[in-house]
Amino acid sequence: MSDLTSPVTALKGVGEALALKLSRLGIEHISDLLFHLPLRYQDRTRLTPIGLLRAGQEAVIEGEITACDVVKGRRRSLLVRLRDGSGILSLRFFHFSPAQQQQLRPGASVRAFGEARAGATGLEIYHPEYRLNSAGETSVDEYFTPIYPTTEGLNQARLRALTQQALELLDSAPEALPDVIPEPLRQRFHLPGLHACLHLLHQPPPDVDIDKLTLGQHPATRRLALEELLAHQLSLRDVRLRIQADGAPVLPSGRSLQARFLAQLPFALTGAQRRVLEEIALDLSRPAPMLRLVQGDVGSGKTVVAAMAALAALAGNCQAAIMAPTEILAEQHYRAFKSWFEPLGIEVAWLAGKLKGKTRLDAKAAIADGRARMVVGTHALFQGDVHFQCLGLAIIDEQHRFGVHQRLALREKGEAGGLTPHQLIMTATPIPRTLAMSAYADLDVSVIDELPPGRTPVKTVVVSDERRPEVVERIRRACGDGRQAYWVCTLIEESEALQCQAAEVTSQELTEALPELAIGLVHGRMKPSEKTEVMTAFKEGELDLLVATTVIEVGVDVPNASLMIIENPERLGLSQLHQLRGRVGRGGTESFCVLLYHPPLSKSSRERLSVMRETTDGFRIAEKDLEIRGPGEVLGTRQTGLAQMKIANLERDADLLERVASLASELQHAPQVTAVLVRRWLGEAAGRYGQV
Ligand code: ADP
Ligand code: MG
Repeated sequence: MSDLTSPVTALKGVGEALALKLSRLGIEHISDLLFHLPLRYQDRTRLTPIGLLRAGQEAVIEGEITACDVVKGRRRSLLVRLRDGSGILSLRFFHFSPAQQQQLRPGASVRAFGEARAGATGLEIYHPEYRLNSAGETSVDEYFTPIYPTTEGLNQARLRALTQQALELLDSAPEALPDVIPEPLRQRFHLPGLHACLHLLHQPPPDVDIDKLTLGQHPATRRLALEELLAHQLSLRDVRLRIQADGAPVLPSGRSLQARFLAQLPFALTGAQRRVLEEIALDLSRPAPMLRLVQGDVGSGKTVVAAMAALAALAGNCQAAIMAPTEILAEQHYRAFKSWFEPLGIEVAWLAGKLKGKTRLDAKAAIADGRARMVVGTHALFQGDVHFQCLGLAIIDEQHRFGVHQRLALREKGEAGGLTPHQLIMTATPIPRTLAMSAYADLDVSVIDELPPGRTPVKTVVVSDERRPEVVERIRRACGDGRQAYWVCTLIEESEALQCQAAEVTSQELTEALPELAIGLVHGRMKPSEKTEVMTAFKEGELDLLVATTVIEVGVDVPNASLMIIENPERLGLSQLHQLRGRVGRGGTESFCVLLYHPPLSKSSRERLSVMRETTDGFRIAEKDLEIRGPGEVLGTRQTGLAQMKIANLERDADLLERVASLASELQHAPQVTAVLVRRWLGEAAGRYGQV
């Protein structure tokens, strides 16, 4: 006996060829047909009087044929005139047979469906679906007709018939598709039942508000969207529960080591840094792994927070590691941690993908035997061949580039002692709260919502590249006054090679225009050692101007740099621009950012650039970015899965997220619910979580 869980081939008339087409739509099992929702609907549930019909409207009409002629316009066609007492209309056929012409004779009554348009004779329907009425027939369809997203070689009628079969199976064996949200919760959250929703969506009765249905605002659609969002949340929470079921080293006592560290810093921590550190300390003192995301705008001082957390791990006789997304940033962290930790007698090791041969082996050995207490690197750190003696804390900087999978992979790094490391994830991409709740449902979130004192907000101007010479003069003046500047070349069509080339050309031009300045160049195709050399020279003030590609996007810290030119900023997302701009305004002097665009600017580009001019508040910028580019882009992650949902749409359904979160809290300890929902909505992805 087949039921909804059977493969589609269990349906009548579905062979391998059809199954293949269905799989292109993501339909593998019979139940998938039920979650393949119509894009829109046609109304064949009522007859529309011709007199009420408007151009652009799809409708069923009925009338008596008054004339049927072949007309010779630009194209020969068969024109059939109809009237129903309320008005007149023509059916037009560009392809027709003599038999058709015979059949559509004056006096016959015909019923037709199609889209009315303004034609040569008034309202016309081209190539309608039609049939001649036998005497006394009055029936119309019982339901709105669904129009599904489809694929080549699979027509609507076929899809409809298959879905009909699936609905029949749903009625005959409903337990194969359980509604796992318990009745009391459904009532509390005003959710209609799953099966009723599916029936309604595939076969809406004539009295349904079809516009709401099409726009995804009907309770039936919202119930499914909510269930999908819930499935995503539950799967993330499931990851969290699994990680937290492991033991983690208890790290209660970093205080004295941390005090020695703070004593050597030239500044005091901000209130926000201290508050976040308290939250971290509490997590670290527990025997389950910390899973905490720290959000803090660029320049809010996340690195120091990371260092303080690391010291707690070190004081507990564990190792700590910090992973950065780029070599430049990792290298910078390495220098910072070295200068901070070596005076405290702590050995800092460095590991990146580019590290080869004996140096690599040495670094790995020091990590494995525990000589290296603090380890800094790129994602190379978390590859299979790197073993820690006792990793107590893993810090991931600029997390928006990493996903759940890396988080899971970390579980294996605790090896010795079978303990799982605590995880601290840091991001400068501020994410609106509700979105964070969904995207990071597996994490606790702390926010550093305060910048260190004494910063003046960066002043931003938007300038056409026709005024490039003025901008060059501006650099001459700023550098003449002893300050430093960045010139950032943006990505051309995702091509790193072209971007590097553009940066090379720009640096040559600027060298000619500004012969008195020391100008450096850094881009992604240079060797890491070359990059480091240039960055160091810039940091130490030996270079006045640094021409760079967006490789400097994250984290690079040179307080004396107070001017940044961003070429073709219209190519970048707002969050990325905000990150770049955060490289200046780190010292006491007033800083400027020049957005040097290439005209003409589209309306939306102009709007985006003016957001940059108006605010330096990362959260506001993130919200705007979300509005303009959507959540997938803003989160920068396809791996969160939120970008490719079947029914839910984060913008449209944002108001569901609060309800989803409280439902998820209620249901997260019901493993069978999670299992069913995750399989239903995440399918393949669920398999990935399942392996761990
Ligand atoms: P981000 O949060 O962008 O990673 P960083 O950690 O790079 O920021 O810090 C930016 C700059 O601010 C660094 O030069 C850092 O030394 C400095 N800084 C961090 N915390 C403070 C503080 N409490 N007071 C003054 N300066 C600070
Ligand atoms: Mg940083």
